Amino acid sequence: MCDVCVSYKEKNIIETEYNAHIKRKDRAKTEKQHDKDKGQAGEVTLLTIDLEAVKVCPYLTASTLYFKTKLNCHNYTVYNLVTQHATCYWFDETASNLTASTFVNFLLYNLVHHCLPNKLPIIMFSGDCTYQNRNNIMSNALSAFCV
Ligand SMILES: [Zn+2]
Repeated sequence: MCDVCVSYKEKNIIETEYNAHIKRKDRAKTEKQHDKDKGQAGEVTLLTIDLEAVKVCPYLTASTLYFKTKLNCHNYTVYNLVTQHATCYWFDETASNLTASTFVNFLLYNLVHHCLPNKLPIIMFSGDCTYQNRNNIMSNALSAFCV
């Protein structure tokens, strides 16, 4: 459940606020299905994008190694919902950090190499973390890409 649904369940928000949330959720679901239909019809390239759970290296379960320093590894995944083509951009904390420019580089590389050749409009659903999606660096990069 999302934060709003949990808040409603715990009686921290009123019913009209919850109903508006459910209405927005249903509309988003309908829009996503509409986009999937357009993708299946070959009208658009449809991508889902997200940063997967952090993996640690080495991955060991021995308790004596619990407090040893481990390397954090990240997996930024771009998945084409129609063709089921997935690209996983693996990097560790020594190669880059979790800033917007890291994700802009991966995404633009993917768009240029996997989407532009299709010559179709591109629709993307992205994780909503600020560094992945909701920032001016990503907005500006995608605006420049569209020109
Ligand atoms: Zn919810």
